[in-house]
Amino acid sequence: ILLAGLLLAVLVSSSSFVLLTLRQRPGKEILLGIKRGEFHVEYQPLIEAATGESCGLEALMRWTHPTEGNIPPDAFISYAEAQNLIIPLTHHLFQLVARDAHQLRQMVPAGTKMGINISPNHLTSASFRDDVSNWINAMPADHFSYVFEITERTMVSERNASEIFDWIHQQGIKIAIDDFGTGHSALIYLEKFTFDYLKIDRGFVQSIGMETVTSPVLDAVLTLAKKLNLCTVAEGVETDEQASWLLKRGVTHMQGYLFGRPMTVSQLIAYFQTRQTA
Ligand code: C2E
Ligand code: CA
Ligand code: CA
Ligand code: CA
Repeated sequence: ILLAGLLLAVLVSSSSFVLLTLRQRPGKEILLGIKRGEFHVEYQPLIEAATGESCGLEALMRWTHPTEGNIPPDAFISYAEAQNLIIPLTHHLFQLVARDAHQLRQMVPAGTKMGINISPNHLTSASFRDDVSNWINAMPADHFSYVFEITERTMVSERNASEIFDWIHQQGIKIAIDDFGTGHSALIYLEKFTFDYLKIDRGFVQSIGMETVTSPVLDAVLTLAKKLNLCTVAEGVETDEQASWLLKRGVTHMQGYLFGRPMTVSQLIAYFQTRQTA
């Protein structure tokens, strides 16, 4: 019985199970996965709060492993970062997004934002600028605008961050601070560098309506963002109550299951068709 329970526990906590298996094949599985075409990208709509219209997409990596099944990005991204595989993986993501984009451009308006999550060690690598330039060249011309999403931790650890951020802006790419409020306190960096979007972590959004005093921290963050002229993206919006609270407080963008889950290209086609006829 004990053994069965243990087995069940291992199976249930699938992400630790995955990490265990991956660790037994050091470094090879992700590269093999790229070669075997096991990765694809799903796109989650970004919604303009004022109109409720989709104005962008965030690219999220998906891995379907032949024996492990669907591996969540929270499991393999951190693994890739630790194993120095995030650059080949992001390189692959760029290829997949460029390929999908030629299909996506038929259904999304010009100017649609394409958000990409960039890991800190890629940002500061020697190949970063070439990788980005090559990707932009591979994308359909003049249709998408670009947003790079980085976490607060990136700023704290990088001495030459300012130079890299300037270069990104020179390419016409916007910068979003991802998971805002969860990293090391980085308020000082909001004054030091120029950013375009503040993505407010799902944790804050989930607290809306749960407390008697409505989310004082979230309130303060929104006030701060307004003063700094930053757009705000509320992540993980799941209920109408959350959406209307956020709209009232002046959030500029929202993302979450309420508006659309991450979707494959073919699911997106259906999504935009039903929205058009609605
Ligand atoms: P993230 O960048 O904060 O992405 C948002 C995550 O929240 C996504 O999880 C998305 O599916 C999920 N989400 C969106 N709306 C809702 C909602 O309403 N409710 C709930 N409960 N969840 C929602 P996902 O796709 O599992 O990705 C997890 C994290 O993995 C991402 O967090 C990002 O940090 C990382 N990631 C994913 N793809 C990539 C990639 O290509 N490169 C890098 N460097 N990181 C990636
Ligand atoms: Ca993100
Ligand atoms: Ca986030
Ligand atoms: Ca996250």
